[in-house]
Amino acid sequence: RFSEVSQAAAIEVFAVVKAFNDDAHEKKVNLSIGAYRTDDSKPWVLPVVRETETAMAADTSLNHEYLPILGLESFSTAATKMVLGENSAVLKEGRATGIQTLSGTGALRVAADTLKHVLKYNSFYFSNPTWGNHKMIFEHAGFTETHQYRYWDAANRGLDINGMLEDLNAASANSVIILHACAHNPTGVDPTQEQWKQIADVIEAKSLFPIFDTAYQGFASGDLDKDAWAVRYFADRGFELMVTQSFAKNFGLYNERVGNLAVVVKDASVIPALRSQVTLLVRGSYSNPPNHGARVVSTVLNNPKLFEEWRTCIRTMSSRIQEMRAGLRERLEKLGTPGLWDHITSQIGMFSYSGLSAGQVKFIAEKYHIYMLSSGRINICGLTTKNIDYVAEAINDAVLN
Ligand code: PMP
Repeated sequence: RFSEVSQAAAIEVFAVVKAFNDDAHEKKVNLSIGAYRTDDSKPWVLPVVRETETAMAADTSLNHEYLPILGLESFSTAATKMVLGENSAVLKEGRATGIQTLSGTGALRVAADTLKHVLKYNSFYFSNPTWGNHKMIFEHAGFTETHQYRYWDAANRGLDINGMLEDLNAASANSVIILHACAHNPTGVDPTQEQWKQIADVIEAKSLFPIFDTAYQGFASGDLDKDAWAVRYFADRGFELMVTQSFAKNFGLYNERVGNLAVVVKDASVIPALRSQVTLLVRGSYSNPPNHGARVVSTVLNNPKLFEEWRTCIRTMSSRIQEMRAGLRERLEKLGTPGLWDHITSQIGMFSYSGLSAGQVKFIAEKYHIYMLSSGRINICGLTTKNIDYVAEAINDAVLN
C-alpha cells in the first residue's frame, strides 16, 4: 500500500521558507511567510502576552482539564464582541454565537463543515487571487462546486470591482461567498465602504451566504473598529453570516492556534440547535480545542488595563508596517524604478502584491538572496531599516533587467 503513495505538490510558502533557511548568504532576506518581524528581523512575543503568560504560570487555580467541545466561553464571547463591536444590535438581540476553533484555518474548516453538512450548501466562491488555503479547506469539507470571482485588476493594481460584482451577480443562489474582512491576502487591496455597499446589495439580491475571513483585525490599520467595518456593516444590515477570526497575527500567537467562528443569525432561538450540530462536527474531528492561547486572549480582552496594553502592541506592529511601505515606495521612486509604486502605500496589511513577475522574483532570489512568492507577493514585515535599501536596489535591478 504505502509503496503506491506518490509525492504531493509542495506548499509554495513553506518551500520558499526552506530555501531561505538553507541559504547561507549574509544579506539574505525573507519576504515570504506571513508573520510579523521586528526591525531586527526577529519574531515578537507581545509584552502583554508575556505578562499574561507569566501570571498564568503562577496561577495555581488553573489546570489542564479538557475544555468544552466548543471551547472556552469567556474567549469566544469576547472574540465575538471584538468583531461585532461593543454596541452591536446583533449582540444585544442575542443573535450571535461564538465557537473557539483551531485558529483561522480551523474556523474556516468548522464553518465549511457546518455549511456543507448542516446547512447543505455545496457551492462556494473565493476571490481571484485569494489566500492559498481557502479552496482546499472547502473542498476537503465536501464542497464540490468551486468558483472564483474576479478581484485583482493587474493593469491598475487595484480592485476589479466591476468584475467582482458581475461574477457575484452571476453566482448561483445558495452559494457561499468568502470575503476578506480587511487586508486582503495576497493583494493588500480592500473594497472602499461604498464598494462594500454594492457588494452587500448583490449578495442580498442573489441570496448568497457571506463568510468574512478576518485574520488581521487591528493588525491591519491599528484600529479594531476600522478593520471590522465591513463585517459590522453586513451584520447591521440584517444578513445571516459567519466570521472566521484568527488571533495569530494580532496577538502574535501563531503556533497556539487561537481562533473563533462567530455566527450571526436572524432568529436567536436557532442558536442552541446550531451549537448542538457544531458540537457533533467538532467531536468527530478534533474533539475539543487547546486552552493556552485562548486563555491568554480571553484574559487580555476581558481586562481593561491589559486590553489597552494590547492596543498599543497592535499599533506598534501596524505602524512599523506602514513605515516600511512608505520607505520602500520612497526608495523605488528615488531610484527612478520604471512603473508606478503608489500601490505599495495604498495597499494595507502585511502583504503587498508588488506587481513583480515570476521571472523577476526568480532573478531577485538568485542574485540577491531575497525570497518572495512567485506571484510577487511581498511580506512587508520582512523589511527592516537595515535591509530596505538592499531590497529596493534588488527590485530596481530586476525591473530594469
Ligand atoms: N485567512 C487568511 C486570509 C490568512 O491570511 C490566514 C493566515 N495566513 C488565515 C486565514 C489563517 O491563519 P491561521 O490558521 O494561522 O489563523
